[in-house]
Amino acid sequence: MTTQSDDADESPRVPIVCPACETTARIPLSDVADRLENHNERLHDGEAVAKVDPDVADRVADLVASDLGLLD
Ligand SMILES: [Zn+2]
Repeated sequence: MTTQSDDADESPRVPIVCPACETTARIPLSDVADRLENHNERLHDGEAVAKVDPDVADRVADLVASDLGLLD
């Protein structure tokens, strides 16, 4: 009997916004840095146009801390 846990459900997702593309997406916390870098490099010549939604940027710090177990 196998129990498969869905990593996507367990990892917190972070909303990102790109005003230039009018794009929003929710990215698993562990992928956010790579996805932002890729997006900005491919579409915006490496400028940091896409970024974590400012409304939750503060909370992301808490998510990271919680993800690392720093809040236990
Ligand atoms: Zn963009």
